[in-house]
Amino acid sequence: MSLFENLLANLEGFSLAKYSTWFFYGPDHVLLDCGEGVSTTLTNRIYAIERILLSHGHGDHVAGIPGFLYSRASSMGDTAKPLAIYYPRGDSNIDRLRKYIAQILPNPPYPLSWIGTGPGERIELPVPNRHVRTFPTVHLQRGASLGYAVVESRSRLKKEFAALSQKEIVAVVREKGRDYLTETYEKNLLVYSGDSMPLPPALAEEAEVLLHEATFLDPGERDLEIHSTVVEALRVAIEARVSSLVLFHLSTRYGKKDVKDAIQSAVAAAGTKLPVYYTFPRGLPTSFQRVQ
Ligand SMILES: [Zn+2]
Ligand SMILES: [Zn+2]
Repeated sequence: MSLFENLLANLEGFSLAKYSTWFFYGPDHVLLDCGEGVSTTLTNRIYAIERILLSHGHGDHVAGIPGFLYSRASSMGDTAKPLAIYYPRGDSNIDRLRKYIAQILPNPPYPLSWIGTGPGERIELPVPNRHVRTFPTVHLQRGASLGYAVVESRSRLKKEFAALSQKEIVAVVREKGRDYLTETYEKNLLVYSGDSMPLPPALAEEAEVLLHEATFLDPGERDLEIHSTVVEALRVAIEARVSSLVLFHLSTRYGKKDVKDAIQSAVAAAGTKLPVYYTFPRGLPTSFQRVQ
């Protein structure tokens, strides 16, 4: 199984524009957005979640929070396990939601922290060498929205030493130490756009999985410049040289066949072999449907 297939096998979620969007990545204990239905779908697996990363305060991305927090306070699981909710600093909807939660759930049994976050910040993860990098997205007319990249710190041989033989490498390591030969870099594993116009490809460079919103099939149906189309999201994925693409946040104005046909023709027109998936749940909420 390739790395992107492994990541996808551990990722589940639900997404329909204006209804609900959330994705759960189990190995890093993170939930990306918290639309309605998270706790009813995951049931006691909500206890695995240690961090919720909110892209913005629209209802379809945050309406699951009250139910989630209630369930985590009272159902079968470790109700004392801490929970941190990261959100774009200054988001007025989330500030209001936070006040409401403080009234309805004033003393949760678990430590609950709300952490206002800006672009270019780093969020630590429980897995060694992994963290989350935040980046700005283009969605709200007033206020900031965020995307999130789960990245892994890796080390590699510096380019200038690529031509050395194994014997020469051993000699240099003996003389100067391993750090002299290697450099660390950040490998994008999962990049999540939240709701946004197309991401700059540099933000998703060589990601294993790019989760990019694709609300529209036809750019003519977009009134405001706040969402992406299927063709635009695919272009980002190709330019960023990602290993796989998951399209989400499709509008319910389209039927399932329209969505599948539009994605297939965009893929054919681009002449790419990129594995493309989409979430368009009319059946099981956790199914990603592969196009090719
Ligand atoms: Zn949305
Ligand atoms: Zn939105």
